[in-house]
Amino acid sequence: MKHSLKLSVLLLWLSFACGAAAQSDNYNRYFCDSTLRIDYILSGNVNSQSISLDGMSRMPGWWGKRQNLTQIPVHGAATITMRDASTHKVIYYHTFSTLFQEWLDLDDARRAPKAFECVQLVPMPRDSVTIEVNLFNNRQQVTGTIIHSVSPRDCTIRRIGEGTVAPHVILNRPDDPSRAINIAFVAEGYTQEQMQDYLADCRKAVEGLFSFEPFKSMRGRFRVTAVCTPSLHSGPSIPSEGVWHNTAIGSSFDTFGTPRYLTTLRIKQMHDAMAGTPYEHIIALVNTDRYGGGGIYNTLNLLMTKHKLFIEVLVHEFGHSFAALADEYAYPGEEPLNYPLDVEPWAQNITTLANFDSKWKNMLPEGNTPITRHTDGSNLDTGTLGLYEGAGCVLKGVYRPCPNCMMRTLKVPVFCPVCTRAIREVIDFYTK
Ligand SMILES: [Zn+2]
Repeated sequence: MKHSLKLSVLLLWLSFACGAAAQSDNYNRYFCDSTLRIDYILSGNVNSQSISLDGMSRMPGWWGKRQNLTQIPVHGAATITMRDASTHKVIYYHTFSTLFQEWLDLDDARRAPKAFECVQLVPMPRDSVTIEVNLFNNRQQVTGTIIHSVSPRDCTIRRIGEGTVAPHVILNRPDDPSRAINIAFVAEGYTQEQMQDYLADCRKAVEGLFSFEPFKSMRGRFRVTAVCTPSLHSGPSIPSEGVWHNTAIGSSFDTFGTPRYLTTLRIKQMHDAMAGTPYEHIIALVNTDRYGGGGIYNTLNLLMTKHKLFIEVLVHEFGHSFAALADEYAYPGEEPLNYPLDVEPWAQNITTLANFDSKWKNMLPEGNTPITRHTDGSNLDTGTLGLYEGAGCVLKGVYRPCPNCMMRTLKVPVFCPVCTRAIREVIDFYTK
């Protein structure tokens, strides 16, 4: 009995795996060369969360993956699944994280519910589909779900990005345009008169990003575009100083009461500004010399450009927003309220040892898994692999791969071998 159950599970898995492989060649069978933008509102507090549909639009071109359509490179805190309405077959699957879920870890989320915007870009289906979005907690359990249908013939899907599109400049061209990863910069807090200054910062950012491995040797896999979105005022809002500016994507410091947490809650405004340009991975360049930034997996990377650590912060935050890497630091007093040590986190560069086989165990010498506790914070070694305690903002019970790394401190301009491997795998996933 047990054996037959196992066998049927295996067969089910095999049919799913084969189906997925066959579909990867079938972009044109299921999808048009357009983007369906779906706006959601995520709302609730720590006790319950819900997802509501807020609107849909259609944009020309599709700038996301055209292969591995039903697979993901690394799991984020949310998923979106598209199924063919008649056969229920999964035809597209993607993952991301949200600012809403970051907020849920804070004390504030124990009080009144709040609502956050969330915009998802999926390829425009040729026929009717159902779409399911799931939010996960840090025990990797589903805490919020929406299932809704979409008909491509629905006349209320507004058309955007067709007439007036923001001016944009391509700064890096891919070797194979049909398999490129699309990064787009968006200007934030630069006035019309400051657009040349913005473009100079974009060029600095491109050269900076591609001076770090593994991006350096894989530069030909990327298309990088600078989208010129002028702001009325120069610089972002700084609520703690009473500074409120009218800017392209509405960014501000003091997110969740943290002075250096620079991000935007105006996600729809940002996508409106970029509509019709070739974008998937968004990097918002913010015209300020005040230190700050943030990176959310497959959602947004946002940072200051006029600070001496511009490039280091850009690359660190891109580790979060592109490859779902975790922070490798931990400070007393800044630990998350509820971090389960019996659950293996999804991020490839930290482990609780709940399932170390899924992490960098195969990069360590066989039979030897040294654990190093209480490492000196000033150790700048980025190459000696092992298990070093203190990572993911948790001081005890969470381990990182090396004494130091770009994801731990900006003092070392190098990703550790585990982060390097993880980034390389994500790049290959989209382009190989
Ligand atoms: Zn690392």
